[in-house]
Amino acid sequence: MINFDQNATTPVDEAVLQELVRATREYDGNSSSGHSLGLKAGKFLEDCRARVAKVLNAAKAAEIVFTSGGTESDNAAINGIAWAMRRQQGRTGVITSAIEHRAVLAPCEWLKSQGFDLTVLGVDRNGVADLEQYREALSRKTALVSVMLANNETGTIQPILEMAAEARRQGAALHTDAVQAVGKMPVDVQALGVDSLSLSAHKFYGPKGVGVMYLREGTPYLPYTLGGTHEGSRRAGTVAVPQIAAMTLALELAEKKRKEKGDAVRALRDELVKQVLARIPGAHLNGDLSKCTLNTASIRFDGVYGGYLLRELDKQGILASAGSACMWERTKPSHVLTALGLSEAEGGGTLRFSLGFCNTRDEVNKVVDTLARLVPELRKNPAPAAAIQATG
Ligand code: PLP
Repeated sequence: MINFDQNATTPVDEAVLQELVRATREYDGNSSSGHSLGLKAGKFLEDCRARVAKVLNAAKAAEIVFTSGGTESDNAAINGIAWAMRRQQGRTGVITSAIEHRAVLAPCEWLKSQGFDLTVLGVDRNGVADLEQYREALSRKTALVSVMLANNETGTIQPILEMAAEARRQGAALHTDAVQAVGKMPVDVQALGVDSLSLSAHKFYGPKGVGVMYLREGTPYLPYTLGGTHEGSRRAGTVAVPQIAAMTLALELAEKKRKEKGDAVRALRDELVKQVLARIPGAHLNGDLSKCTLNTASIRFDGVYGGYLLRELDKQGILASAGSACMWERTKPSHVLTALGLSEAEGGGTLRFSLGFCNTRDEVNKVVDTLARLVPELRKNPAPAAAIQATG
């Protein structure tokens, strides 16, 4: 298998898997229990919290809240902050962007249905949020801005630093979905100036079902899950200590690998794009690689149905995706590609290639050779009735 679909999920690192097993054996107590087994798990949990805070450069370990993953972190941050800002300060404005993951767009739309005033920012052809529209929408009434750090489909990095500074001037809180950023760019909560940030372990070689919500101290927040005082009363539910232990190690390793191997992954991604554009007429890059995370490329092929091409690649042992991974069965282009201004045909012919630390130059060559053979063949055939689409 050649896995060029690592924005959907990453393979669990072997050392992380061992840590998951070790922590399951050693810290099997309930971290809320007052007896020795519980206290042991509770102490280890706090060690993990401090280690995560260190990697993210959070001022305090207590600003780290463990969750079940990116979707929960996004929902908790958006609902928790927006409702608290409304209750404490009477603010009802929410700003997001058109290219967010559904885990952000859906709670923002739900807030709108509850009387919040929602602005959805457009993006330019490269997928960068419209800062002018942002400045117009931002006001003393804004409760929350939620704009992602890096996009899952195109890899485009958003101007969060500027957006957070402007939100602060208006007294609004800013949350960023950084699920696709870890291991691909620095994620420093203080340097970014964000109030809240979401992470998901399975996007950086950790297990599925565990994540982080960073919540800056003092940020208004109403807990989204009720029923316990876990996680400083911000997230009720027995804490998944072994999964958190594995995620903590995965986060440390991903940051280390980014520093050591990030340039090599970027070089492979750039080589893939260069060869595909040179060898396949009618292949185009969506966006601008200089504005993207180091591992992602979104490429469209004229006259080809992306779902069909994915299926043929899969038969050759090559994994890629179209749009986002959670949309495997959808036949329409994703909302992200549409927001970029791509037509239905352009979006439908787009594939996402997302590389990881284990990919090699030989794999790039094999993928390019296979595409160079398949694309002209598929152009001779009409689009099939059923198609495959992408994930994550
Ligand atoms: N946000 C982004 C940008 C994502 O890519 C994903 C996953 O695909 C999520 C949120 C959801 O994360 P999780 O799979 O941990 O629920």
